[in-house]
Amino acid sequence: MSEWTGRPAERSAEDDYLDGNALAGPLSEVFAIDITAALGTCGTCGDRRAVAEAHLYVNAPAKILRCPSCGGVLLRLDERGGRVILDLSGFTQLTIEVR
Ligand SMILES: [Zn+2]
Repeated sequence: MSEWTGRPAERSAEDDYLDGNALAGPLSEVFAIDITAALGTCGTCGDRRAVAEAHLYVNAPAKILRCPSCGGVLLRLDERGGRVILDLSGFTQLTIEVR
């Protein structure tokens, strides 16, 4: 797995796609908002509620957000060495209101 490099998007010559850097603009709008107001769907039990209602555990190497219904891990946020590693794989969906 490669990491995001912050380089401009590059177009593949053989395939019709851009690399993930092309999402920098649209994602900057999404992540500029307060994510805790988003509605998240738990990938374990399917419960859907505001991210702010989930349970945050901070006594671990990373911050862990767990579903208040089933205890499943929704999010991991690991801050180290000047980087933030964000794992949102516990959500099947996030609904974010934008203006
Ligand atoms: Zn759950």
